[in-house]
Amino acid sequence: MLVTSLASSSKGNATLIRSARAAVLVDCGLACRTIEPLLGAAGVRPEQVQAIFLTHEHGDHVQGVGALARKHRIPVICTAGTAHALREKHLRDLTPQTICAGDTVQLADLDVTSFAVAHDAAEPLGFVLHSAGVTVGLATDLGSWDDALVGHLRPADLLVIEANHSREQLLASAYPWAVCQRIIGPYGHLDNHEAGALLAAIAADGRPRDVRLAHLSDQANTAAYAVKTVRGVLAEAGVSWLRVRAFPRIASPYPHKLHTWSSDQLLQQSPLF
Ligand SMILES: [Zn+2]
Ligand SMILES: [Zn+2]
Repeated sequence: MLVTSLASSSKGNATLIRSARAAVLVDCGLACRTIEPLLGAAGVRPEQVQAIFLTHEHGDHVQGVGALARKHRIPVICTAGTAHALREKHLRDLTPQTICAGDTVQLADLDVTSFAVAHDAAEPLGFVLHSAGVTVGLATDLGSWDDALVGHLRPADLLVIEANHSREQLLASAYPWAVCQRIIGPYGHLDNHEAGALLAAIAADGRPRDVRLAHLSDQANTAAYAVKTVRGVLAEAGVSWLRVRAFPRIASPYPHKLHTWSSDQLLQQSPLF
């Protein structure tokens, strides 16, 4: 599998996931005119995208979904709650395929299973994608986590997990107090420490995994600080077997600069017997 981040921040989120015979987007939080060249740089024509899965209705996840889906006839898949929230502005004449948390959608050789997350949206989801023995788990936009979430994500070889903000940087930022409270709250966003604790819980089984920190705040985090903090939390928990990096906030439209995770890396990193 290939996982390419096209955008990952509070200003826009879109992840391209490819198996041998399928290509899907999770979220489409960039303008259509921005996402088309990024797909091209990844070697994918928009019409080759078989579905756009939406995590929830916030603008940083849906900005270009209507235009891209309409122009290239791409099915949109989301919960009824997300569809209802988007019906007037973004989806209008489009009829999304609605799913419930726990449902699995099969597209060629790719299975996409959803799970509920705690976020202040109508009916938000995370996703686990599986193809040919490789599993990718995505959970962004969640204010808290529990054992059920750990269970959903534990099969993943690649974990794309939100490390939204540094609590100290957020409280010192220009955000109004009410916004800070929303972000910090149980239905807001995970901070770097909370992301680290979630990863430590998932990693308690001792299995090595790749991690990409995602949805970094533009005003209250940096990639280097997020990675350093999460690695620190993992070290304190005695977890040394996760390979942690951060997704760039927005991809460069040059092929050699796109941040793509490949499951081939798993083979290269596996010990030889
Ligand atoms: Zn959100
Ligand atoms: Zn978001």
